[in-house]
Amino acid sequence: MSALSDGLFGTATASARGAGLTSQRARDRLISTLREDGIADPRVLDVIRSMPRHLFIDEALAARAYENNALPIGLGQTISQPWVVARMTELLIADRVPDRVLEIGTGSGYQAAVLAALVGTVFTVERIEELLRKARRLFRNLKIENIRSRHDDGNIGWPSEGPFDAIVLTAAGETVPRALCEQLVDGGVLVAPVGPPQQQRLVRWRRNGDAWLHEDLEAVSFVPLLGGLG
Ligand code: SAH
Repeated sequence: MSALSDGLFGTATASARGAGLTSQRARDRLISTLREDGIADPRVLDVIRSMPRHLFIDEALAARAYENNALPIGLGQTISQPWVVARMTELLIADRVPDRVLEIGTGSGYQAAVLAALVGTVFTVERIEELLRKARRLFRNLKIENIRSRHDDGNIGWPSEGPFDAIVLTAAGETVPRALCEQLVDGGVLVAPVGPPQQQRLVRWRRNGDAWLHEDLEAVSFVPLLGGLG
């Protein structure tokens, strides 16, 4: 975990550090907020505390990196709100820590990096090549070696690498694509926002053979799951 501590990153700008807003104090405040809002898993809180979220967004926004908000990352996309990342991570690892996790929607790479600190390997798929390139560069700089990424339409999952112990969608569709359900192991867990804009719900499914246990959790707001490549 020491590789995630602040001082090691040459990419963190002096101004961002100087402002004190990307400091440990700002991160601790974020952790208090997450706790107050119901995130209880200490494994998740520890990873979020040590993850340099300011490196996953544009430098101009770095001062806001440890606010509990989604922020723009360009190309009409957003880095998810820390609470949502924490919640989805907690839901994915609650039963047991999955070895192989598929993420649809790499975006900034933040959710993938948080997961990679907790699970065996993260497989992440993004349809916008430019975002994927940036995220890959960041994974390299942060020396995160257990993330594999692919430029593709996540609606088809990553068939050659499946099945996965857990799947997480970070973009919302009206339903979960069938191909993704087929790439989940028996006993696996799938977490996704589903529903039309303004009415999305965070849902967790657990697969038990052909039966799917469904839990409707809470209202959320994600960018849409699109088709094709960006
Ligand atoms: N997990 C990201 C959240 C990014 S927002 C983070 O932590 O920053 C959701 C992302 O899903 C966007 O980058 C968007 O381009 C991507 N996306 C939307 N539809 C997709 C699809 N069909 N396949 C792959 N990625 C998709």
